[in-house]
Amino acid sequence: MTISIRPHHLLCMLTYLGKGYTPDFVHGYNKIIRRLNAGEAIEIVSGPDDICRPMLSEDGCHCHDDSVRDRDTRALAQVGRVLGIDLENGGVLLLTPERISVLRTAFLDGSVRAACTGCEWYDLCSEISDGGYRACRLSIRAGQGKDA
Ligand code: SF4
Repeated sequence: MTISIRPHHLLCMLTYLGKGYTPDFVHGYNKIIRRLNAGEAIEIVSGPDDICRPMLSEDGCHCHDDSVRDRDTRALAQVGRVLGIDLENGGVLLLTPERISVLRTAFLDGSVRAACTGCEWYDLCSEISDGGYRACRLSIRAGQGKDA
């Protein structure tokens, strides 16, 4: 099994604390993080993913918006470059502890944050990364069978 993840969510997961838009959204997100922490692989998808799923029937759902797709385009390029891999839609990615660490370092220094431009959560995510990702759910031990 793989978990479908759109590219800019590879960044959002780095600072995820277990809070979000709705209880269903948070419940689904927490389950995804537990699966990632247990070592399940990601399939990179274009458009709404498993994290988006509970939001697709909500009023004002933005998951199909062009602006969000633009975030994905920017994230796909930068995440692939930072990880030194050819990342593309439809590809499979394993988030190893080393890769999470590399991404969090790049997130902190801003070199992977083009997708975050204009995001309403920008300052919050910056505070979380500045604080050393304390209490974030995605484990640095991902892939080693640890829970969120
Ligand atoms: S600033 Fe927005 S796009 Fe960037 S990681 Fe945070 S929630 Fe995701």
